[in-house]
Amino acid sequence: MLDAAESVLAAVRAGVSPASDGYVLCDDAGAVALLLPCAPSQGSRRALASARCEPMLDAAGKRLAELLTARRLRSSVRQLAQSERLQHALFAIADMAGSDHDMPTMLRGLHEIVGGLMYAENFYIALFDSESDSLRFLYFVDTVDDEDPVLDAPMPMSELMYGCTWYLVRDAKALMGPVDGLRRQVSGPLHQHGASSKDWLGVPMMRHGQVRGVVVVQSYGQEDCYSDADRALLGFVAEHILTALERKQDQAQLERRVAERTRQLAETNQILQEQVRERERSEQVQTSLYKIAALANVEDEAARFYRHIHLAVGELINARNFYIALLSADGQQIEFPYFVDDKDSARPPRPLGRGVSEYVIRTGRPVLVDPARARELMEAGEIEASPVVGTISLYWLGVPLLDADKVIGVIAVQSYSEDLAYDERDAELLTFVSYQIANSLQRRNSAEALRRLNAELEQRVQVRTRELREQIAVREQVEAQLKHQVMHDPLTGLPNRLYLRDRIERAIAGLRRNPERCYALLYLDVDRFKLFNDSLGHLAGDEVLREVSRRLGDCIREPDVVARLSGDEFAVLLEDVPLPKVACKVAQRIQDALSQPMHVAGRDLQTSASIGIAIGDARYTSTDQLLHDADVALYRAKSAGRQRFVLFDDSLQRQALDVLGVEHELRNALVRREFEPYFQPLVDLADGAVIGYEALVRWRHPVRGVLPPGEFLPVAEDSGLLEAIDWSMYRMACEAGVALVGEGQFMTINISPRHFQNPQFDVHLLKLAREAGFDPARLRIEVTESTLLGDPDAVAAILERLREACVDAALDDFGTGYSSLTYVQRFPLKMIKIDRSFVEPLGRGLSQRSSAIVAAILALAKSLGLDVVAEGIETEAQRQALQKMGCVHGQGFLFGRPEPASHWPR
Ligand code: C2E
Ligand code: CA
Ligand code: CA
Repeated sequence: MLDAAESVLAAVRAGVSPASDGYVLCDDAGAVALLLPCAPSQGSRRALASARCEPMLDAAGKRLAELLTARRLRSSVRQLAQSERLQHALFAIADMAGSDHDMPTMLRGLHEIVGGLMYAENFYIALFDSESDSLRFLYFVDTVDDEDPVLDAPMPMSELMYGCTWYLVRDAKALMGPVDGLRRQVSGPLHQHGASSKDWLGVPMMRHGQVRGVVVVQSYGQEDCYSDADRALLGFVAEHILTALERKQDQAQLERRVAERTRQLAETNQILQEQVRERERSEQVQTSLYKIAALANVEDEAARFYRHIHLAVGELINARNFYIALLSADGQQIEFPYFVDDKDSARPPRPLGRGVSEYVIRTGRPVLVDPARARELMEAGEIEASPVVGTISLYWLGVPLLDADKVIGVIAVQSYSEDLAYDERDAELLTFVSYQIANSLQRRNSAEALRRLNAELEQRVQVRTRELREQIAVREQVEAQLKHQVMHDPLTGLPNRLYLRDRIERAIAGLRRNPERCYALLYLDVDRFKLFNDSLGHLAGDEVLREVSRRLGDCIREPDVVARLSGDEFAVLLEDVPLPKVACKVAQRIQDALSQPMHVAGRDLQTSASIGIAIGDARYTSTDQLLHDADVALYRAKSAGRQRFVLFDDSLQRQALDVLGVEHELRNALVRREFEPYFQPLVDLADGAVIGYEALVRWRHPVRGVLPPGEFLPVAEDSGLLEAIDWSMYRMACEAGVALVGEGQFMTINISPRHFQNPQFDVHLLKLAREAGFDPARLRIEVTESTLLGDPDAVAAILERLREACVDAALDDFGTGYSSLTYVQRFPLKMIKIDRSFVEPLGRGLSQRSSAIVAAILALAKSLGLDVVAEGIETEAQRQALQKMGCVHGQGFLFGRPEPASHWPR
């Protein structure tokens, strides 16, 4: 049927004849068409038209079209009115949000607005918080339900589970209708919360696709109360409500925050201000307290100290009237060393009574007094107003001065004015001040005590020192006496050996400190004293010694010392003697003094002394060394014929070596055959041809290496080992000489004077040469002038016998002794050796004297038929000079140094 109608309508609109029958009454070009169906049995459309009902149908069609148009217009008008209401409502909502109404007012306004749009007697708005999954009812009005939710409080969604509101949030879409209808719309089971409504319309409030809340209206009376249009409307309004709510809420929140922040700031500000005030105050207090503490440390006069304290206290509390009270030493009185007051000028000391100060002393605690407290104390009998106590103040604050736990006084401030009271804080401050004052007083007291103690001590020390000094003086006297006795010789009164040793020790130490402070020791022996003693008796001997000591004393000056060492031995210590010359001068002076005749025992005696001198230099580290060396020199002086002085020097030093030690070494060396000959050639000066060799002894010392004879022969001589060494050396020289000394050459050996004391010397020597297989004709001996001087006849005899055995003799070191050539003429000599000391200057500018001597020797030797060898030629100039003078032979480093035999070619 409908299809047929549609095809008819389409055909009519297209302007063609419809295929099936039907008549279009009216067509308002779109919405409504009215068709009159024509059954085939009633004839065709054409038949219908022709049956003259066509005008009637047309009229009906027109009328119909008019009716339709009127209805459409009415509907438009309704819609327009609705839109207008909506627009009003939205404006009103926006207005509401912008206004400064509070939230409840605005919510009420919103309700009213919605109520203007639809039935909204029952109406609620709730906001959803997804974070806490809860709903907050902002507004709730219900005519039936009396279980209103608590407004503006979060309600967990679980409490609304499966309810319409819950679905609104969960499904995020509007719900509308009666319960049955709603059940169909939700995504799960539907539970009824609250009273059951006839019609229910709820829309979610969405923002950015998220549910932010719900708006619900419902009706308990009328079904089908809400239409789709209402739903759309509410949805639209809900959006704006949300905006308005949010705006309001934001605004409220902002205001709340601003208010909160402002409150916080104000609070903070207040706290800060409080703190600043507190800080300022405590700074001020601190400064004053420091000042007081510092004052307590200053050693100041008491009155000034109290005044300063008062000033400092005045910075902290009102202290116009201030005093310091102290208990007297016996504790019976109270004194006021400091008192400043408006009313009273001073306060005299008083026996302890019933004043407030006494009360503080009794209790040992700070006391704050105002009129009320004063009455109380008076009633309790603790204090009494007495003229003795002075003018009564209105307010009074006193704190005890404590020393350890003992109260020693009070400090107090007082006020006569109504508006000047003291409080706990003042008490605290004053207590602090009291500590400082107590400290200071204590320190002052102990300082005073210390001063007294020191003075007492000083006094006692002085007395004791005086006593001790006296004792020491006595003791020193005794000691000096004893010392003198111990250190002096009773016979002459001179210092003794002990004293001398002490002085020498000091001299040694003095030199160590100052190398210029040389000193000298003169060791002195009275010549032939034994003779006086034996022939004239002991008394005369003692007299001689006393006279000698007197004369010695005259020869020296301070601080030199004359000491008697024993019997006839004396010593003189000269201090600060820079040169041996000075010491010798003193020695000479002594000898002159002693050589004056001495009248003893009725006779004139001639005395003299032998003196040994040792110069104290850095070498000496002990007294014994010095005494020993002076003794050695003395011994020399005596053995050289007495009445002379000998200065200890290097040669003596050598002799003074530890003879025993070296002797032991020399003996060992002999056994171990450590002595051996070195050979030095004697040459023809013209061509350097070797005419012979001189054998010179060397000690191949196991530690010190090869030693020249100067190092050991003097000791060997002293210890009597020289001969043995010589013999061993002669034997080795002869043995080596067999191979070394050729045809026409000779070998010389050095013979010391001692050998000539042995009359068998020549026999021994010849025997030795024979045993060594050395031809005696090639052997020559070298002797010195001193040999010839010893026992001339004996020496001459030996030389004679040796010459007979073809062993010639040479005079060594010629020119150094005193002998003249005429003297030596009596000895059978073959050769003389001019000493090195004459050769040395030759070839240099200043050689005239030497040249003259050498020339004279050469001339004389020639006349006597003696060969001449010049010793110690070291330079070509010397060689030429000697040659020029006619010297034929020479010896010296220029031609060769002493070397082992193996060094020299045959
Ligand atoms: P002397 O008999 O006058 O021996 C010569 C010394 O002069 C040697 O010293 C020799 O080395 C040294 N001499 C040689 N030519 C020169 C030169 O050109 N310049 C210098 N400055 N010196 C030169 P040496 O060997 O130290 O002997 C020293 C002394 O010891 C000898 O003097 C001699 O008196 C003695 N002596 C050496 N050997 C023996 C010995 O076997 N027995 C004994 N009793 N005495 C000896
Ligand atoms: Ca010699
Ligand atoms: Ca010589």
